[in-house]
Amino acid sequence: MKCPECGYDNLNDATRCNLCGAKLPKKDLTKKEPTDNRSIFQKIKDFKDTPRDTPKTAALISLVIGLFTPVFGCGQIYLGYYNRFLVEAIISAIICKILVSYTGIIKLIFQAIYLIWFIYTVYDSYICAQAKHKQHKLPKLVGLVNINK
Ligand SMILES: [Zn+2]
Repeated sequence: MKCPECGYDNLNDATRCNLCGAKLPKKDLTKKEPTDNRSIFQKIKDFKDTPRDTPKTAALISLVIGLFTPVFGCGQIYLGYYNRFLVEAIISAIICKILVSYTGIIKLIFQAIYLIWFIYTVYDSYICAQAKHKQHKLPKLVGLVNINK
């Protein structure tokens, strides 16, 4: 579909111009029955918006819940990777337990590990979501262990 503003040739199901962002006329929607309109909207939502949005959403869930609780990797629940979430959460609980049980240099070291593990779990939610949507194999956890569920 050609953009009326700049003339750029967009995909037929595009609602906005890829080049200038102008709204494109709803040519296909007016041709079909109202019940079909909804399914087209749903298709656009499912196949265009969600794959782009989900990696960020999964990472955001891990980030926000991890900021306020010691439970890391909650974005994996959103993706349906419950085993991976459990492993990440158990590791964060173990680090937390050591953190509160010791003082001095050990506490300091585990504070650093805690922070690194937190950042890693947020990153892991992001790359797992990307892999899921590209239908790739999940990356190994910490580059070592295969956890695919
Ligand atoms: Zn345009």
